[in-house]
Amino acid sequence: MHKTLGLISDMKKDFKNQSTLNMELYCDSCKEVTKHELVKQNLYRCSICGTHTRFSPPKEVEIKAILSSDEKTEIGKVKVSEEDEIVKGSEMIVDLKEVSKVGKVTAIQLKNGRMVEFSKAKDTYSIWLRNVGEVSVKFSLHKRAVTTPYKMVFDGETEFVVGEVINIEGKKYRIHRIKLLDGGLLKREGEKALAKDIKRIYATYTP
Ligand SMILES: [Zn+2]
Repeated sequence: MHKTLGLISDMKKDFKNQSTLNMELYCDSCKEVTKHELVKQNLYRCSICGTHTRFSPPKEVEIKAILSSDEKTEIGKVKVSEEDEIVKGSEMIVDLKEVSKVGKVTAIQLKNGRMVEFSKAKDTYSIWLRNVGEVSVKFSLHKRAVTTPYKMVFDGETEFVVGEVINIEGKKYRIHRIKLLDGGLLKREGEKALAKDIKRIYATYTP
């Protein structure tokens, strides 16, 4: 029932996993790309021949993002790896002051002022996006004493209800509180809010 843009979160997750323990890197001895394990910061060992290779994961950059919908234009930023490509027509998450919304890229401007169809993130000055009506909803997931932050993309009109059980990565969580952007707090069973009005959802693991 909840629509997700799996791609965006999966990509982010993959990048995170890759940049920590295991990397596919070019090995100078094997003369090919092999699996490498992290030895210490920025130092990896080839799993085939044991040769060490230095590698610094790409840095994250922030690009100015101008997000338009019928009613208004908002300015925020997108966070991507500096090696990432920005492509016209693709969807990206724009971080605004309190919320994150999804936009489709309509124009890309380079640091040298040129307008292009695609670019490397590190060369990009700003991007224009069309609001597609989807928002990134923040969660605080409680499991015993542990709280895990989590984000998922939903259609802005998706309804969340206090008491409702939601499925996140195969696990069930019951919503017990919903904090709203306007400062309100819903905690009575049955109280509802739309994804676009939500600041954060608090949910507890229910086995
Ligand atoms: Zn090797």
